[in-house]
Amino acid sequence: MFEYRYLIVGGGMTADSAVKGIRQVDPSSRIGIISDESNPPYNRPPLSKALWKGEPLTKLWRGTPMENVEVHVSTTAKSIDTERKRVVDDKGEVYAYGKLLLATGVRVRSLPWKAEGIINYRTLSDYQRLRQLTEKGENFAVIGGGFTGSEIAAALTMNHKSVTMIFPEEGIGARIYPPPLARYLNGFFQSKGIDVRPKTGIESIEKRPLQYMVKIQGGTKLRFDGVVAGIGATPNQELAASAGLEVGNGILVDGFLRTTHPDIYAAGDVANFYNPAQGKRMRVEHEDNALTMGEVAGKNMAGETAEYHHQPFFYSDLFELGYEAVGDLDSRFEMVQEWKDEFREGVVYYLNESRVRGVLLWNVWGQVDAARALIAENGPFTAETVRQRIPA
Ligand SMILES: Cc1cc2nc3c(=O)[nH]c(=O)nc-3n(C[C@H](O)[C@H](O)[C@H](O)COP(=O)(O)OP(=O)(O)OC[C@H]3O[C@@H](n4cnc5c(N)ncnc54)[C@H](O)[C@@H]3O)c2cc1C
Repeated sequence: MFEYRYLIVGGGMTADSAVKGIRQVDPSSRIGIISDESNPPYNRPPLSKALWKGEPLTKLWRGTPMENVEVHVSTTAKSIDTERKRVVDDKGEVYAYGKLLLATGVRVRSLPWKAEGIINYRTLSDYQRLRQLTEKGENFAVIGGGFTGSEIAAALTMNHKSVTMIFPEEGIGARIYPPPLARYLNGFFQSKGIDVRPKTGIESIEKRPLQYMVKIQGGTKLRFDGVVAGIGATPNQELAASAGLEVGNGILVDGFLRTTHPDIYAAGDVANFYNPAQGKRMRVEHEDNALTMGEVAGKNMAGETAEYHHQPFFYSDLFELGYEAVGDLDSRFEMVQEWKDEFREGVVYYLNESRVRGVLLWNVWGQVDAARALIAENGPFTAETVRQRIPA
């Protein structure tokens, strides 16, 4: 049996930050990590960006402190005995813990067609498989118009591949951007050589000996050397649920990131927490949240009592366009757009119930804290009063 003062299930960015958080308070006790991936913690964002622009793989690693830390790779935690404080893995190994962190993240949704070799993109091994395919293949389908789909389409195009983007919405990023911006992005991606097919469903995908045949709505058949999907993700909460912890769109945690069991914490993409500025519970699938929350969870496991009040930001790169954003970017909210240069540089405010819930800083840099402060203000705000609050 392995025995750890601190045990972490999941070996992603949250796990790495938790180790760093623990070490700020407790420099030496034993830490164990159970990870079902075959690598130590690494940065996920470069998988769809920097690695395609020539950044070496060696820059991917998080540099998790390894002194008195054991990472059990290619190992899946299967059950938790909350009474005896033990975790059992898929090989029957038992891990005793003092404090447990669930940093199990999310898993990507898979397309319903079982054609072998479709890449539902999320991990380093997915990146490696796609890289390998690009060595021989020229022609790729990217399914999904959200973060992953748009970034992978841009990455493949920058690597001189022919790309067709297929998604059901009206425009790229339609769930978070104002409709005119999402439509502009369709044209922008097209101008880069991508065949953009919005409002398009898929009827079937079949693997042929050398290629994939994708039949889109209306019956047109398209052939590709590879198919990559980025169609959203679901929280890995089953382990927590089967241990009797409360779940509901993620694992529910309190302000100190404790689950409904006092010795078990959860953080990162899988955690459902109360955000005071938004006035609601939420789950965030972004790097800043994973890193900050992981660190707070680690400190609290080691004896501190820090509350998680952070308003996470996120970012994306789309060819030469890029942005930072804070809060809840929901295109169902009222959106107030202020462009200095239309669709090239500007600020979009997302209003709901007279509060600013989110801010999109489109090619506008260094304003993340100003956006956080605005979201924390009680308001009331209207489309008129919010204008000019953040200079574009
Ligand atoms: C391609 C890509 C690009 C991204 N780009 C950006 C970006 O530009 N900006 C941004 O803000 N965010 C970005 N993100 C999101 C960001 O990377 C995530 O928010 C962050 O990685 C979440 O970390 P996590 O550790 O909470 O979860 P995960 O990264 O999902 O890690 C959880 C790990 O736990 C493992 N696991 C689950 N259950 C078990 C179990 N029972 N036993 C053992 N292991 C288990 C999982 O397999 C996984 O390895 C991107 C994500 C991807 C995939």
